[in-house]
Formats: sequence, structure tokens, C-alpha cells
Amino acid sequence: MEEFCAPRRLLLGPGPSNVHPRVLQAMATSLVGHLDQAFLAVMNDVQTRLRRLFSTANRLTIAVSGTGSAGMEAAVVNIVEPGDAVIVGVNGVFGTRLATIVERCGGKAIRIEVPWGQIIEPDLIEEKLRRSGPVKAVVLVHAETSTGAWQPIEPMSAMCRAHDALLIVDAVTSLAGLPVEVDRWGIDVCYSATQKCLSCPPGLAPLTVNDRALSVIRSRRTPCQSWYFDLSLIADYWTEHNRAYHHTAPISMLYALRESLRIIAEEGLPARFARHHLNSRALMAGLLALGFDPVPPVDYRLPTLLCVTVPTLIDEGAVRAQLLERFDIEIGGGLGHLKGKVWRIGLMGESSTEANVLTLLNALEEIGIQNGWVTIPGIALQAAASTYSRGR
Ligand SMILES: *Cc1c(COP(=O)(O)O)cnc(C)c1O
Repeated sequence: MEEFCAPRRLLLGPGPSNVHPRVLQAMATSLVGHLDQAFLAVMNDVQTRLRRLFSTANRLTIAVSGTGSAGMEAAVVNIVEPGDAVIVGVNGVFGTRLATIVERCGGKAIRIEVPWGQIIEPDLIEEKLRRSGPVKAVVLVHAETSTGAWQPIEPMSAMCRAHDALLIVDAVTSLAGLPVEVDRWGIDVCYSATQKCLSCPPGLAPLTVNDRALSVIRSRRTPCQSWYFDLSLIADYWTEHNRAYHHTAPISMLYALRESLRIIAEEGLPARFARHHLNSRALMAGLLALGFDPVPPVDYRLPTLLCVTVPTLIDEGAVRAQLLERFDIEIGGGLGHLKGKVWRIGLMGESSTEANVLTLLNALEEIGIQNGWVTIPGIALQAAASTYSRGR
């Protein structure tokens, strides 16, 4: 077996996104021991930078070992005990997964289900909180990657607090691509993943927990069902002055995350959010010109993930295959009941550039011209170009 030589893909799917060469280089740095002073400095720096990214002062701000689902699992298993009622917003795959994890913890998942692509209106949550008796937590997905819906979070914390429920937020496809203001929005537990808008390989899940949630964790009646994700144990490893071995940190991944956080800081968050916003508008303009319709309503479309309905005369699977084989471009198909009906195009982190938007639209136009579904050559590029000239 020869060494693996990866094709050079443009990653415009629902994750992973393209990784900056500096991040790859950081991963090739020599290992040190995971309790080495030199490594502790890396961990401290990662924590400081993650707090900035989450807009929080939470001491317990860490990178959980594992992908985004590990962050999800860690957030839920630490809070939910057998018998706890938990309200879960279900408007796509990830809300569905969260409800399943709640039930695996022995919790009672109170699902608020709305059609995929829609958001969960605050009134629906308020009503469920009023009618459900004691609720331990409300769980919402900020950026639902299966549908492209952008869930408002800010209006939720006051009602959660009024009912003494914690607010847990999945920020996997939002953190570092659009504002996530943990403290100002009153989020109690928030997690993300490295391979989406942070543009790292998959393998770590940034997580932040405030004191309100921490005291709930510390006063559990039963031990956390997961030893690996037990935050009361992991917290000691991430405490600045008294690191105690829990499990071996994925050292190279932490090097990578630190470098990606440095790149994010160099760009600055406002500039980064503006870039994601502009590129998504340009791509959407091009897609609309080609006859693709966005799934979420106009005010709730994510800039980091565009989900569009594919017109029936287009063979979506065949076009995605051509994009990959002829143009080295990856985009995503639909999940669940949207399979075969939609495309999910990610513009996350390093992948969100004007060059990438134009490359994708150009490739789509060429395929469309050859297959007869583009009759006005240049129509998509025209739409994107005018967005860019208005945007500057
Ligand atoms: C990708 C994703 C996850 C899961 O992350 P993995 O890294 O695939 O485990 C969770 N929530 C949302 C919203 C996601 O987009």
C-alpha cells in the first residue's frame, strides 16, 4: 500500500471546511507530554482565545476531546439526570439527535417540532415552559446544518431563567462564522466543533459552561453516566494551577486549534462575520439566478450554510458527482427526508471566499449549459458580481 495522497478538494459542504496551511503545519509540530509545562501554556492560550470567541468570561471554557457530537454529548450528559424534563427544539437532524441523547440519559425529551427549515418561535418555548412543570433545560440548535436555518437565541434566556431552566445551545455551525454571545445572550452551556467555521480538522469540540450550569452539575443526585465526558472530572484537568490527569489530550489537535484561533484573531471577528455575510449573499444571488430556492425563510438564512431546493429537472446526485470529479468541489446533499431534494453548501471559515463562490457558480453554469438547464450563460456570475460590487 502506497502513501495516501489526498486529492486537492475545495470543501464547500456541511463540514469539514478547508484548513489553513498554518493549521496543518502546527499539527506537524513535535509532541510534548500532555502535562509538560510547554503544553500547559498551549492549553491556557486556547482557553483564553476560546473565551474571546464565545464572548464569555466562563472559567470552564475548554476543548472537549472528540468531534461536535462529543460536545453535544458532554453538554447533555452532564446536565440531564434520569427523570429530568428537557425541552428540545426539533427542526432538523441535530435537534433530533439532541432529543435522542436526552432520552439516553433517562431524561424526558419534550420536543417542540416545527417543519424542517423553520425556526422555533420564542412563543412556542414560553408556552411549553409554562405548561410542562419543572424543566431542567431548554436545548436549541443555533445553526441547523441540515436545513440552513438560523435560530434566534437572544430572546430565550429571560424566559428560561424565569422558569429556572438552563439554556443549552449548539453553536457548531455558527461559532467563528457569526456572532455567538454566550454571556450577553444568557447561554448556560454552549458547544461547537473545530471542523466547521473554525477551519481545523475534526477532533475537538469547544465547550463553555457558566457557574449556574456548573452548580447544577456539582449538585447532581447521580454520577454523570459518562466517565469520559464527566465535566466534574475534566474541569480539574483544565484548571490552570492544578492539572490532574484524566485522559490524554489530543495534543496535535490542540496545536491546530490554537493556530486557527490565532488566525481568527488576526482577521478580527467583525471582519470575519462580514466576510461570511457578503460571500453567502453573493452565492445566494447566483443560486437564485439559476433557479434554486432557499429552504429557510428570508430572515433566518445562515451565512455559513446555504440550503437550497434543487429544481426537479436537475439530477442533483449526478451534478454533485460531476462537481467532485471534474472540478474537485465538494458540496453536500440533503439529510433525512430532504435527501435527494436539496443541496447544502457550506461557506465556513477558510472556505468562505469570493474566489470560491465564483469557482462554484462557474462550475455549476458549465454543467448547466452542457445539460440544458442554463440557457443564459453568465446569469449566476452576473448576480454574484453585482452583489460584490454593491457590497463593497
Ligand atoms: C456537524 C454538527 C454536529 C456534529 O458534529 P460532528 O463533528 O459531526 O460530530 C452537531 N451539531 C451541528 C449543528 C452540526 O452541524
